[in-house]
Amino acid sequence: MAPGSKLPEHRLATIFGVSRERVRKVLHRLVAERRLERIPRRGTFVPNPSPEEIRTVYRAHRVFETGVLTQLVKELNDAMMSRIDAHLGEEREAASGADRAASVRLSGEFHVLLVDSLKSPELSHFLRELLARSSLMVSAFEPPRLSLCSVDEHAAIAEALKARNVERAIALSNEHFTHIEDRLAQGIVERVERRIEDALEPLVPVARGSSRKGRNRGPDPKARN
Ligand SMILES: [Zn+2]
Repeated sequence: MAPGSKLPEHRLATIFGVSRERVRKVLHRLVAERRLERIPRRGTFVPNPSPEEIRTVYRAHRVFETGVLTQLVKELNDAMMSRIDAHLGEEREAASGADRAASVRLSGEFHVLLVDSLKSPELSHFLRELLARSSLMVSAFEPPRLSLCSVDEHAAIAEALKARNVERAIALSNEHFTHIEDRLAQGIVERVERRIEDALEPLVPVARGSSRKGRNRGPDPKARN
């Protein structure tokens, strides 16, 4: 969906076949998670981050990963390395297949796996927060048919780790983030407008399946938009 698209409650309710109250509740949650933006008296929107905001988020990830790699070189053991290798295998397989969603998910998980290897809940939590913001930008700006992360670049970082060459691992990670930012910038140029009904169509069966479970505690008192 194009960045800046409005998400009117009544249209979402029709698309997913649920009540406006339920839609509102989900939108509230997504706004709280910073996945959507709420503009008072105007409604809820797909975020439209500026190139500068995107750079800020990726710079944070870049700096964070530099620290992760520095620590990882000190702690790396065979078990961690074989987990990373196994993951790269899955990434490669997904990248060559047709399941683009799996490919995107796995490439993001590579970075999560690096930090999770340190077994620090604080660090893992920190990265997940950051990824919640950057994955949003990815969904907003990623050019079609282009994976943001390259498996070869991930593999090169893993090789440098294996060689305990921290300078090289950091340099490769920095290069990797530069490439991601370049691809996102490309996506900003190529973004397309779509009707929300078309953009959300693939999600409808999933949402309808889950909407039968768990009832809301109650509707919010006021509807707006
Ligand atoms: Zn990556």
